[in-house]
Amino acid sequence: MEKTNVPELFGSLVFDDREMRARLSAEVYTSLRKTIDENVRLDEKVAEAVADEMKEWAMEHGATHYTHWFQPLTGMTAEKHDSFITPSKDGSVIMEFSGKELIKGEPDASSFPSGGLRATFEARGYTAWDPTSYAFIKDHTLCIPTAFCSYSGEALDKKTPLLRSMQAVNRQALRVLRLFGNDDVHYVKTSVGPEQEYFLIDQKMFEKRTDLVYTGRTLFGCRPPKGQEMDDHYFGVIKPRVTRFMEELDLELWKLGILAKTEHNEVAPAQHELAPIYTTTNVAADHNQLTMEIMQKVAKRHGMVCLLHEKPFAGVNGSGKHNNWSVSTDTGVNLLSPGETPYENAQFLLFLCAVIQAVDDYQDLLRLSVATAGNDHRLGANEAPPAIISVFLGEELTGILNAIKNDTPYAGIEKVQMKLGVHALPRFSRDTTDRNRTSPFAFTGNKFEFRSLGSSNSIACANIMLNAAVAESLRQYADELEKAEDFQVALHDLIKRVILEHERILFDGNGYGEEWVKEATEVRGLSNLKTTADAMPKLLDKKNMEMLIRHKVFNEAEIHSRCEIMLENYVKTVNIEGLTMVDMVRKDYLPAIEEYLYTLSRAVDSMKSVSATLKCRYEISTIEKLTDLTDNILTSVEALEQALENLKSCKDIFDSANTVRDELLPCMSTLRGYVDAAEMLTSAKYWPYPSYGKLLFSVQ
Ligand code: ADP
Ligand code: MG
Repeated sequence: MEKTNVPELFGSLVFDDREMRARLSAEVYTSLRKTIDENVRLDEKVAEAVADEMKEWAMEHGATHYTHWFQPLTGMTAEKHDSFITPSKDGSVIMEFSGKELIKGEPDASSFPSGGLRATFEARGYTAWDPTSYAFIKDHTLCIPTAFCSYSGEALDKKTPLLRSMQAVNRQALRVLRLFGNDDVHYVKTSVGPEQEYFLIDQKMFEKRTDLVYTGRTLFGCRPPKGQEMDDHYFGVIKPRVTRFMEELDLELWKLGILAKTEHNEVAPAQHELAPIYTTTNVAADHNQLTMEIMQKVAKRHGMVCLLHEKPFAGVNGSGKHNNWSVSTDTGVNLLSPGETPYENAQFLLFLCAVIQAVDDYQDLLRLSVATAGNDHRLGANEAPPAIISVFLGEELTGILNAIKNDTPYAGIEKVQMKLGVHALPRFSRDTTDRNRTSPFAFTGNKFEFRSLGSSNSIACANIMLNAAVAESLRQYADELEKAEDFQVALHDLIKRVILEHERILFDGNGYGEEWVKEATEVRGLSNLKTTADAMPKLLDKKNMEMLIRHKVFNEAEIHSRCEIMLENYVKTVNIEGLTMVDMVRKDYLPAIEEYLYTLSRAVDSMKSVSATLKCRYEISTIEKLTDLTDNILTSVEALEQALENLKSCKDIFDSANTVRDELLPCMSTLRGYVDAAEMLTSAKYWPYPSYGKLLFSVQ
């Protein structure tokens, strides 16, 4: 392979800070930088100057078109390409791109989900430039990251509320930091490093599986003789074809300024992971969307398909996404990292408390932020965190919090009584904090790792809720401490009280255990929202709506629309899966089994004609078992058809979601059981779809 100059390649397709500084006048650059860093409103003249330079730069890199790139509530990204050409009088064209075109777009938005926010007569939606995420070139097109909203200004996308939630954290964190005398901090930002899991399978195999093509997961398939039980895939040697894929993927991502860093095999066969270096949350969200898109594209070039579904194969670990989250200041302080001095420690403990309280008070919001039909298969299935949300702190921190709570000495630091603002805390090494992989929300040294996200989720949803909930804890703390007569005393009391009130959410034990479910729900009163149908309606709970509205993350209409869209998504997804199952069973599975039965019966006939006393045990017992199964398959497919029919007459979206959970999914599971049993008995020659073994071990 040719030698690659990575520093030169990195960000070469991004209109990043280097390009801006080199190309824009000092005045324009400074003004734009202020918009990016401090959210100062953008001047129109500045936009004009930026647009012009952006276009010149893009054309130098082969771009002929531009697009406002946005993230509608479909969970994917959307783009509509316009070329730069403008006709001139002499019949030729010139290439133009104005400040107006940079700042605002008006895509026909009528076919994006709006949950009733946009009446059909007002089909227009607006896209607005997000200067905090750099423009980039993809497929000869200048892509401008934008927010997407309705005519009346309601957010129709994932970026807008994410930006709002980051502002909420900034507002409240600054109030708290001022109380600690931190006057030099201008702004606070949240950062995320999302670890992305995925499967790679052979494209030819993929195309033969109707279920994978229509739904992204297998709806049938019995377990192969070898799965992940040997633990031989995790961190194992990467296969040559996958290595070539990963090399090319890195190059593509680096060109787009994405800090792809770690790649390794995951637990399941054919499963892999990619982790970038963390960055500002909204950029991380954009980059993760791009990463998922590029993964799929690059896989195709290598004759493979990248599966991002949370549970492509039953009985094999599914794919998730770990959202590593922290908050830091523009002066470079990570607020989740205990500092060197006692003051910094107290500040750290208060921010730690803010997160603990946020997770406890808004367990339901965090749970629903990761709720999709796909992710429901993983959470609580002993391969990913349970649906019950709890916080893991590790021994050291737990020891410190206990010492504060009980006014007792903490053994870790010279056996002295913890009085905040007086003593230094030990630094937490990652080793002591990252041992528990079963926790949905774990402290890992200087950040929290939210592990419940599904592999195909946009990270925006989880971070919107997390940011908003943390902003709310901080708001309460600032309100209280700003009024305090003695800051030190008030701070100590506050931290102690928060620990006492919210310690029920702290759990360092085995999150996969049955006992935990019992203890969490029965003793601690934590919520256990098992499915999307259970979780999503909680968005409309008064306490949740009030909090989200208070911090201007959503308005009331936006909350209702989102709830509806997410539930619709759940219902539609499972509905398509149900229809696909009916299709596969009626058109392929039943006829295939029937053909095999016919072959067996003819074999019995011919054998008996040779000798009437032959037992034909294999043939006859298989015929008996398979005809039982085809009976059951028929009954179950009829039941599924009825459930699909019932779904059509549901009175509203909540009713539909419940029907999916209570009727459709159980019918699908029963049907699958019978078909998978038949697969075990039927000659592979007759079986109409590639087996799990072929799918999982097809890439060498
Ligand atoms: P793991 O053991 O979970 O695989 P890694 O070392 O691979 O952990 O890191 C996981 C992710 O966490 C990476 O994307 C990394 O950049 C990110 N990360 C590290 N420090 C922080 C931080 N302070 N804030 C947010 N993300 C971070
Ligand atoms: Mg991790």
